[in-house]
Amino acid sequence: MAKALKFGGTSMANADSIRKVRDIILADPEAKYVVVSAPGKREPSDTKVTDMLIALYGEKTEEGRRTALDAIIARFDAIIDELGIDLDLSADYAAILGSSESDSYDYVVSRGEYLSAKVLSALIGYEFVDAADIVRFGPNGRLDDEFTQRLASDRLREAVHAVVPGFYGLGANGRIKTFSRGGSDVSGAIVAKAVGATVYENWTDVDGFMVCDPRKVKCPKIIEMLTYRELRELAYMGASVLHPEAVFPVNKSGIPINIRNTFNPSAKGTMIVCYEDLESGKYKREDRVITGIAGKKDFIGIFIQKEMMNGEIGFCKTLLDVLYENRIRLEHMPTGIDTVTLIIDPTGVSDEVLERVVMQLRDRCHPNTIEVQKGLSLIAVVGHGMMSTKGTASRVCGSLYRADVNIRMIDQGSSEMNIIIAVENEDYDRSIAALYEEFVG
Ligand code: ASP
Repeated sequence: MAKALKFGGTSMANADSIRKVRDIILADPEAKYVVVSAPGKREPSDTKVTDMLIALYGEKTEEGRRTALDAIIARFDAIIDELGIDLDLSADYAAILGSSESDSYDYVVSRGEYLSAKVLSALIGYEFVDAADIVRFGPNGRLDDEFTQRLASDRLREAVHAVVPGFYGLGANGRIKTFSRGGSDVSGAIVAKAVGATVYENWTDVDGFMVCDPRKVKCPKIIEMLTYRELRELAYMGASVLHPEAVFPVNKSGIPINIRNTFNPSAKGTMIVCYEDLESGKYKREDRVITGIAGKKDFIGIFIQKEMMNGEIGFCKTLLDVLYENRIRLEHMPTGIDTVTLIIDPTGVSDEVLERVVMQLRDRCHPNTIEVQKGLSLIAVVGHGMMSTKGTASRVCGSLYRADVNIRMIDQGSSEMNIIIAVENEDYDRSIAALYEEFVG
């Protein structure tokens, strides 16, 4: 029986937090495979080691690079001193600026994880296994899942206990390549799958995944258990604890992810499990209609009305063609008999592009009216529980009515596990609070 554990930047930030990490690992005989981030912020105004490395790479002069490196060395040396371990990293420090890889951004930026793993490995006596030996990217720049699994599985099983740096692997050209920011979560999932872990524990600095954004509702409840599908819906709408790609290596293997808090290890955290395992009764959770609420602001709505629209073959196709030709991402498209609403992602959509789109929609679709509204918020109310419960949409609408919120759009996904509503930006906070109160509070 083996677990894979990943510790994030705050857990690895200083000697005190690293001692907590050590205690968590050594107290659990199943905690055999550990993935770490680079040291993160020690307090809110601090700089993460990864950002220090990014700045180092951007330095134009030799002197600037030297000074930046000295600051990074000072951070690691302080940790090593305080932990009282016998570890000399001078050759590794020197390689950051003085190896054949030093011209590579990814190599330089990955060194935070590399050094962090070396420190933990020395502290707890687990073998250091370099991520470059077990994580491989394909020529398209994406993770080569099959190759990685083969390499990682063979190497890690041989190691028995291992500490692996997160965030990077080897590219198809044989050079170090990193994931996007926060990518150590993905590395943790890769390791969990490779060793067939019973669970992937993702140790961070919060007690778990909250039902909604704590900036909108004071101390919202922690979600005790959610499914990968619910997580995807909530994460897409902005709720973030995990890197969005972290679930792919583990969800198909049925390995649950347990979000835990290094600074409050007695809290059970949030379990993320497969829907099928919940259905079959392998995992049980409290009966709740709604698992979580998440939302994002600043969408654009294009409200279109045309008489006899329902009889016109290809009307919606033309709308979608116009969006496609202008490289615009469609988020939702609820339709009525003679009306359709296009809710679009505003990223990269300038006023000029929006005007062009509206003109093309007028020319090619001849609507009776077309109205554009900016500043719409989308809110997703998510939970498998709504599938078997009558009246969820009515409770959504009723609670928003009582909070004096005008719903601009409502859309229930065909999977019947989410209801998406659009409200004006100024009603956003009130809506989240009202929905929380209705379903959880
Ligand atoms: N250290 C990297 C970052 O700050 C990767 C990670 O922590 O997951 O994004």
